[in-house]
Amino acid sequence: MAAVPILDVSHLVKTFDITGGFLDQLVWRNGRLSRRKTIVRAVNDVTLSMEEGETVSVVGESGCGKSTLARAVMGIYPPDSGEVRFRGERIDGLPPNRLRPYRTRMQMVFQDPYASLNPRMTVQAILEEPVRFHNRGISAGEVKDRVARAMMQVGVDPSWNDRYPHEFSGGQRQRISIARALVVDPEFIVADEPIAALDVSIQAQILNLLMDAQQDRKLTYLFISHDLSVVRHISRRVAVMYLGTLCEFADKETLFASPRHPYTQALLSAIPRLGAKGFSHVKLKGEVPTPIDLPPGCVFHTRCPHAVKVCFEEIPKPLQCANGSLVACHRVADGSI
Ligand code: SF4
Repeated sequence: MAAVPILDVSHLVKTFDITGGFLDQLVWRNGRLSRRKTIVRAVNDVTLSMEEGETVSVVGESGCGKSTLARAVMGIYPPDSGEVRFRGERIDGLPPNRLRPYRTRMQMVFQDPYASLNPRMTVQAILEEPVRFHNRGISAGEVKDRVARAMMQVGVDPSWNDRYPHEFSGGQRQRISIARALVVDPEFIVADEPIAALDVSIQAQILNLLMDAQQDRKLTYLFISHDLSVVRHISRRVAVMYLGTLCEFADKETLFASPRHPYTQALLSAIPRLGAKGFSHVKLKGEVPTPIDLPPGCVFHTRCPHAVKVCFEEIPKPLQCANGSLVACHRVADGSI
């Protein structure tokens, strides 16, 4: 019998109503003044599952919905429809008191270590807070031990526990953010662009720290990034998103060696390669359409160099290719590209 995935996301949809004030809503339509809502379609019908101990990265341009997907998985944004299951148990739409047990098992590391740590709290207080919240009745000694262990694991001297976030560098702050996630002994971590705000010299250290913690604690990571070289380094499988839609989901080697979806091909062709032969840069024409007014059919058809009539009319369904990748493209499905 196949093991239950640690995370199973099924047909997830998340929209945001950004309708403005009364006057902003008024439009002239068919000779009459009427009101209209403005809806951003951030995540559209995304399905993916994750196995225990693996790292799945979600990549795509800014605004493609990858961070919204991460937050919907964590219950920060309740999805409009679809399901999120953690170890087979449905967690989307749970009220806060029933979601709490999952909060210890599922943690999140945010992009900006400057904004994600409370500047008025010492490191000790920052790290104690989640331990006390999730372990009612825990002794003071045990709390101290867990905080010290987490600080040591991320390479921050536990004797600095009475310092404030502003006394640390960006890299050290991100280490403290990771310690805050690890201190409750989670099984699953969403890392939302965890190195994007750091100096290049620090990025490798934080990546190695995440990978070491994964090995020590058998963690599963949902890793959100726009940096393909980082994704190539850390992931086992990669999901590519465009305008809130999953284009391709494949294991790392397959995706980087033979991308099938035209958007993935364009994305990967932008990676500079010294002396590389056989890969030419695919230049996409036009702008990314607005998620307020998604194009019909395949959302990529306005920029796709392979678009044909069916692409303008029908939404492609993800289908498994011979190489094991899941690809949502009419022309990959009919074998014409
Ligand atoms: Fe391009 Fe059509 Fe495939 Fe969309 S479905 S990626 S428009 S070929």
